[in-house]
Amino acid sequence: MKKLLPTSTAGSLPKPSWLAEPERLWSPWKLQGEELVDGKRDALRVALQEQEAAGIDIVSDGEQTRQHFVTTFIEHLEGVDFERRETVRIRDRYEASVPTVVGPVSRPRPVFVEDARFLRQQTDQAIKWALPGPMTMVDTLSDAHYKSRQALAWEFAGILNQEARELEQAGVDIIQFDEPAFNVFFDEVNEWGVACLERAIEGLTCETVVHICYGYGIKANTDWKATLGSEWRQYEEVFPKLRQSKIGMISLECHNSQVPMELLELIRGKKVMVGAIDVATETIETPEQVAATLREALKYVEADKLYPCTNCGMAPLSREVARAKLDALTAGADLLREELTAARGARSEKELEQHPQACDKQYKGKNLLQS
Ligand code: ZN
Repeated sequence: MKKLLPTSTAGSLPKPSWLAEPERLWSPWKLQGEELVDGKRDALRVALQEQEAAGIDIVSDGEQTRQHFVTTFIEHLEGVDFERRETVRIRDRYEASVPTVVGPVSRPRPVFVEDARFLRQQTDQAIKWALPGPMTMVDTLSDAHYKSRQALAWEFAGILNQEARELEQAGVDIIQFDEPAFNVFFDEVNEWGVACLERAIEGLTCETVVHICYGYGIKANTDWKATLGSEWRQYEEVFPKLRQSKIGMISLECHNSQVPMELLELIRGKKVMVGAIDVATETIETPEQVAATLREALKYVEADKLYPCTNCGMAPLSREVARAKLDALTAGADLLREELTAARGARSEKELEQHPQACDKQYKGKNLLQS
């Protein structure tokens, strides 16, 4: 039987200090050339080992081979000039120096496919791979060519689809698209954002996820969160459209946030990766706190559709804190799984007492099917 409540992370894990300066985003590499290639692979092995040691069920590369979840993908595309940088306002909240689209965009060669193949060789567990979503890519750029966010996002969706198909071929079980921009530009999400995501997953048979969060635990994000009031209802704007979409799973920030859990009712029936670890604090959750968040989510998400996860990536945290948070996630999920298994056991015993023939018939039916 499939394991209940399989755990995973939203994506990034801290990099070792010999590879990049710790606890910062866009941290420059410390190695070069062949040493860098080897170093990234070694870091991927360590990130995998740490997830396995913590008992994480669906593992990832910890994003060890990329400097940033959006820019590293974009760097591999043609049509983008990395020398020509502009300072723009991203996510409608902070300034960042970003590259410029100067011509038609295309993907001359695979971006992460070799890394994914390497990860596949290292483990038998289910693997998840994160890619930036089309809208978030457009929102992390300056565009001097298409002059239309929608037109550029559609081009990116086609490119992401090429990459996603090859990742699936390489043995990736779950492909995730990171769309923090979905929490900001609601009209665009409904007009074209979800359609672009559906373009990106066209023809895939593996599981697909969209990750929508309130961002890494950096100051610009925590300042923004402070302005959002006592109830964060951003998800309400995009859930109805997502529920109807072909995206299989939705990954959300649920722990320590002001998101009212009842909003999950709007996506009932979807598989949900429930963020039960806060990535914006160094305080380690207790297993009971993790279980409490997951238990609350169970009111709106069927147990077999609930995937315990982190609120967002853990790249800016220290390695020690990130490891302890992985342990907390596993321990919290274990607690709730035991509760559910005990409750199910009690329920089937009760059914057997009340309807012995019905259960007997079911059992015989099963035997019949198997023989
Ligand atoms: Zn996130």
